[in-house]
Amino acid sequence: MGSFGNVIILRLPKGESVVRPRSYCYSCKELIRWYDNIPILSWFILRGKCRSCQASYSFRYPLVEFLTALLFCLVYMRFSEGKIINLRVFEYIFFVWALVVVSMIDFDHMILPDVFTLSGIVVGLVFSIFSPDRSFWEAFGGVLFGGGIFWLISYMYYIWRGEDGIGGGDIKLSAWIGAVLGWKAIPFVVLSSSILGSVVGLILVFKTKAGWKLKIPYGPYLALGAVLYLFCEEFGMSFLNIFFPSLGPE
Ligand SMILES: [Zn+2]
Repeated sequence: MGSFGNVIILRLPKGESVVRPRSYCYSCKELIRWYDNIPILSWFILRGKCRSCQASYSFRYPLVEFLTALLFCLVYMRFSEGKIINLRVFEYIFFVWALVVVSMIDFDHMILPDVFTLSGIVVGLVFSIFSPDRSFWEAFGGVLFGGGIFWLISYMYYIWRGEDGIGGGDIKLSAWIGAVLGWKAIPFVVLSSSILGSVVGLILVFKTKAGWKLKIPYGPYLALGAVLYLFCEEFGMSFLNIFFPSLGPE
């Protein structure tokens, strides 16, 4: 899945097929042999270089594979309840994988593909019908609340500055997160992602030449906020209690 994620990150924004052709070197076009295409390991064995032309491959490839594996283990440890597979594990594995993929695409191209965000909303709503964690209405409320809050911020920013501040992709991503985690997750996801994004943004403002004109992708921070909530829901809920005491658990 991590390896396939890398293929999608590389090819989807270019409009190329993600299944054909098989993995090849972008520098010398040589097909990558199966024994050089083992996730994580091959990159280290070849020291990040193509076997035929020595072109170097980004460290991001093994990183995405490792991150996917790590998140899958965490999902399994937290949600499997001793079973090999259950609905939660199945749903959350695809969710965290898709978040890794869209985050990397957002880093590279400042876009969040609709094929992930819009289908994520639909799939999230369908799964909510069977989910033990959230009702359909919690998921539906999550779509409205998650999407609505960023739509509102983006609208107010537009009125204030006369230009787009938050992309439509962020609105759809946040609606998708709401569909999967339910509306109660949204305050935590919004606040944690804006804190994380601001810290990184401020560091970059002072470290790069772009200064205050700098644009950073916001999707990765939303995704990180969602992952934090998924694995520390108790923390997220006690957080909700501080700000909205009437909404938290009794
Ligand atoms: Zn090559």
